Amino acid sequence: MRRPADAGGNSNENNWHTMQPDEVLDALGASRSGLTDSEVERRRAVHGWNRLAAVRKQSALVPFIRQFHNVLIYVMSCAAIVTAVLQHWVDAAVLFAAVLINVVIAYVQEGRAQAALDAIRAMMSPHATVTRNGRTLDVEAVELVPGDVVQLAAGDRIPADLRLIGVDGLQVDEAPLTGESAPVWKTIGVDDEDTSLPDRRSMAYSGTLAIHGQATGVVVGTGAQTELGRINHLLTGVAPTATPLLRQISRFGRVLAVVILLLSAATYALGVIWRGETLTEMFMMTVALAASAIPEGLPAIMTVTLAIGVQRMSRRRAIVCRLPAVEALGSVTVICTDKTGTLTSNEMTVQRVVCGGHDIDVGGVGYAPVGDFSIDGRVIDPSRYPALMEALLAASLCNDASLDVEDEVWVITGDPTEAALLVVAKKAGLDHDRETVSHPRVATVPFASENRIMGTLHSDVDRTPLIVVKGAPERVLDICDSQRSPHGEEPLDRLYWQRMAATTAAQGLRVLAIARRCGAPRNAGTLDIADLDSGFTMLGLVGIIDALRPEVAAAVRECHRAGIRVKMITGDHAATAREIGAQLGIGIGKPAVIGSEIASLNDTDLQTVVQERDIFARASPEHKLRLVRALQAGGEVVAMTGDGVNDSPALKKADVGIAMGCRGTEAAKEAADMVLADDNFATIAAAVSEGRTVYDNIRKFVLFMLPTNGGEALVVIAAILFQFTLPLTPAQVLWINLVTSSTLGLALAFEPPEAGVMRRKPRAPSESLLSRHFAWRVLLVSVLMAGGALGMFLWELRSGTSVETARTMAVNAIVAAEMFYLLNNRFLLEPVLNRIGLFGNKIAFATVVACTALQLVFTYAPAMNAVFGSTPLGYVDWIKAAAVGAPVFGVVELEKFMVRRRKARAALAGEEPKGGHTAAHR
Ligand code: ATP
Repeated sequence: MRRPADAGGNSNENNWHTMQPDEVLDALGASRSGLTDSEVERRRAVHGWNRLAAVRKQSALVPFIRQFHNVLIYVMSCAAIVTAVLQHWVDAAVLFAAVLINVVIAYVQEGRAQAALDAIRAMMSPHATVTRNGRTLDVEAVELVPGDVVQLAAGDRIPADLRLIGVDGLQVDEAPLTGESAPVWKTIGVDDEDTSLPDRRSMAYSGTLAIHGQATGVVVGTGAQTELGRINHLLTGVAPTATPLLRQISRFGRVLAVVILLLSAATYALGVIWRGETLTEMFMMTVALAASAIPEGLPAIMTVTLAIGVQRMSRRRAIVCRLPAVEALGSVTVICTDKTGTLTSNEMTVQRVVCGGHDIDVGGVGYAPVGDFSIDGRVIDPSRYPALMEALLAASLCNDASLDVEDEVWVITGDPTEAALLVVAKKAGLDHDRETVSHPRVATVPFASENRIMGTLHSDVDRTPLIVVKGAPERVLDICDSQRSPHGEEPLDRLYWQRMAATTAAQGLRVLAIARRCGAPRNAGTLDIADLDSGFTMLGLVGIIDALRPEVAAAVRECHRAGIRVKMITGDHAATAREIGAQLGIGIGKPAVIGSEIASLNDTDLQTVVQERDIFARASPEHKLRLVRALQAGGEVVAMTGDGVNDSPALKKADVGIAMGCRGTEAAKEAADMVLADDNFATIAAAVSEGRTVYDNIRKFVLFMLPTNGGEALVVIAAILFQFTLPLTPAQVLWINLVTSSTLGLALAFEPPEAGVMRRKPRAPSESLLSRHFAWRVLLVSVLMAGGALGMFLWELRSGTSVETARTMAVNAIVAAEMFYLLNNRFLLEPVLNRIGLFGNKIAFATVVACTALQLVFTYAPAMNAVFGSTPLGYVDWIKAAAVGAPVFGVVELEKFMVRRRKARAALAGEEPKGGHTAAHR
């Protein structure tokens, strides 16, 4: 059965599951203390990186062809074909070119959007905890090689195929591999040779999910050599699903296409029957109408705006995993956030120890084990306080963290709460490594938020079993019947400990109680949660400070101003949570709701409570799910944070599930819509602001583009109805659409957040893109553009100007109007002529310059004159064209001013301004 050290490879061909753990380690040339760095390098040279072969790239042609599948493109293509049949070669060529250019633009933009998402996917690469050179490190999963010893904890995605060599209650969800949704218990015992893959208890396969317990495994297969690699399953990544808004837009596009076709058919019939135009003549007019009304650039710009939003969010450390979250963020009305690590910095320092009848202060900050112990301001020698030393010894034994010096800086691995206990123990002169040797650990009940307790079983030098626990005070007190006093053990004074815990928590400190019991558990050598039930001796309490993140208070205020309520859901003590809440402006003056109360309320009562209160303490993951449901039932759009494997249901249920990038388990990240790279609450506020901006920018673009189509269509309809010469030919109309949407319109996708974006109420998810007010603006600007262009065209014709010159002037007048209107649209309601208004978006200016250059080419280049029927203009003509476009700017600013005034009056009169999303209770 022995194999050479490089045998790690295909975990299927090798019968790793039939071998004992030590045999596997031998066969792989590995040991429990892990590989050395040089050995890792050597093996990587043989086995390569632990990743699946790149997914076979789709040929570039498929996404290109997909761009043709768009109703608007169908309409244009049909028009082009019929125009060609009618032998209007130039118009047909321009129409075909327009189809092609639009498809190319859409293709390029989609590629850009995809590249942005791919980059974000790369940022989400999973990590693994590995033992190398005897030390535990966090590495990227791609760096694993066969023989690496990997630690697993609940919530981890299994990073490679592993033969388990140590298991502590490990349960794995193997659905990604076997389709079996029931979790599988794992052991280290050997399986029979013919055990099929789903039944192998001693193996954990890459891509599956640890949902409970802990384990250690040795890597037996990496990359393509894993079971996952073998079935070539795709890695999950950023799902490119269409967002509700994109779907709404494409529906809008389809409806618009039908309306345009009907309108064109009616105009055609009208022209032929009523006006007696020739069929061909009338067809060309109808083509002009259709071409003018179709917003060709719409889908491409939407995608780009969304992708830019996603990129901006990732720059602000919020990584969007599912695109619909970008829009949902804009409508969020409630953010439910964890406390530890999100509102606070998760850098824990023990400040207070209550034990042996003493209340002891501990000095020092951070993880450097330097600081004095003092009682009432008098420095003491900790070694002279046996009760203190016993409590600290227990705290450092029941502990999975580690403390090291790297480049003269003290760094920790593992849970900061536990690390803080190691630090305080070291301050008292206890050496963790030495103590773990003299009290070797035999078994563990890991800490879980549901239980709020951790226990470890040790055997000391005399082989007497010792169980130590630490956890939430009420939880630990429940299992104690005695306490350590300066003179030995005495009956438990529960009230005393409860009072001390409450006063410690009221200072905003995180409180943990420590207890121990001598004697064996029910089954020797193993430890179960049922063993942590009674007979313990209370050793002491520790109070740990976890400083607030400095930027959070301002972010909470910002959310409140934006009409978003912030609720804290924490596993911590109610008094700690309230004190932290008070410092941040969350739930001031209102009592906290305790997890047990949530459990006792029915759904209807919970709905009322959840609206009134903002702090939920001692809450566990299943409470989170109920809270999300209750809030949603009250009409709220909920963002919920989470990090544990059990948070997944709540994250999925929330409108925006937010996982923690640093602290979060892979399970939470996969359930989430967004991952915070820095675990920081302020990042959520920033993401909301970006989400609102994306929606604003999409709206700005629609608002900008529709009047171009509307204005042109009105010009053409007027010409048909009143039998003028067409002021714009079909080719010219297409030119205007292409130039304005692909240069000017694109600028709006880059528009930065408006100053007031976080001062308005959240948008109702049902709110339509084009409110009545904005529909009115579209009409107003369409009429202004059409009136101006048509008036000038007719005036010019009457004063003897050639049709070509009058048309060229009309084209330039419309484009000029669009340039002015672009400036209006940089702000939906705010005036543009403020300090930053005109110069805030450099891209807007760049596109105006680019657009002017294109218009010069259109007007003066002989080739363009030939294709588009344009002619060179004199400078007076330019002034006239600009003068026709300019009024749009003034009129729209005036309209914004009037709407602002009306809203201000309504607000003064106490009316709710229209359009804001208000939940039932507000
Ligand atoms: P949140 O992150 O949800 O804001 P939290 O991190 O404070 O809250 P938990 O981690 O569930 O919530 O901790 C709840 C309580 O469990 C803590 O107040 C503390 O008393 C206890 N506790 C926390 N970490 C540990 C640990 N590693 N071992 C034992 N007990 C712990």
